[in-house]
Amino acid sequence: MTQGHCTLVGAGPGDPELLTLKAVKAIAAASVLLVDDLVDEGVLVHARPGARIVRVGKRGGCRSTPQAFIEALMIAAARAGEHVVRLKGGDPFVFGRGGEEVERLRAAGIACNVVSGITAALSAASALGVPLTHRDHAQGVMLVTGHAKAGSGAAHDPTDWRALAAAAHAARLTLVIYMGVAGAAHIQRQLLAGGLPPDTPAAVVQHASLPRQRQLLSTLRTLADDLAAAGLGSPAVIVLGDVLRGLAAAGAAPRAASGG
Ligand code: SAH
Repeated sequence: MTQGHCTLVGAGPGDPELLTLKAVKAIAAASVLLVDDLVDEGVLVHARPGARIVRVGKRGGCRSTPQAFIEALMIAAARAGEHVVRLKGGDPFVFGRGGEEVERLRAAGIACNVVSGITAALSAASALGVPLTHRDHAQGVMLVTGHAKAGSGAAHDPTDWRALAAAAHAARLTLVIYMGVAGAAHIQRQLLAGGLPPDTPAAVVQHASLPRQRQLLSTLRTLADDLAAAGLGSPAVIVLGDVLRGLAAAGAAPRAASGG
């Protein structure tokens, strides 16, 4: 039997119209689709009739399918000649464990390619109507996880937030934090301790690109309290930096606004 192959496909932030044409073609060509929980159902209309759709997400009460099991499933299906598409929210190579999956597939000798998707940071920026870089305000952007894998049993947060704060301030970089809502109070304290000014504008965008999108404008000084008061939860990204100043000055984003 000829061996199949695997394509890691970025499904974008939610709105099915933000799929790339290449992603649509890959979804339509798949015989098996392994779908992450942040992937919107609307994306699956492109799957061909009869394609096997396996949801491996944790939302809706089920526990997350273990990563090792997902990888074993991908490898077994590809070895059985299937054309496997691994559909991941946003971009497969931004905090989606896409890197780990590609390593496993390559080690197993499975042909594998990647189709990029629009990552949440980019979608949040367009939702807010602010650029992530700007010649006057930000020379670059850092994408950081607020929920890093702890090293060898260590209970501490492995992210050096103080170093990040210092770098963001000194080099004028916008900070976009994924998976940071639950740890917002800790992140806020550490960034302040690292020297990021308390009046640094902050924004949070939940469900970017979807009709249920909500956003919040705040500052580093009051971020965690404002988040709790507004009741914004996951999935959301936190944006910090001077690129938001125009928005704050214009009062363009109410403190907790719904968008669409
Ligand atoms: N690969 C994905 C990120 C996966 S990690 C990407 O490139 O976007 C999951 C985190 O991404 C969420 O906890 C949240 O921080 C962020 N995220 C994903 N989709 C989002 C959305 N539509 N709006 C806001 N944040 C989102």
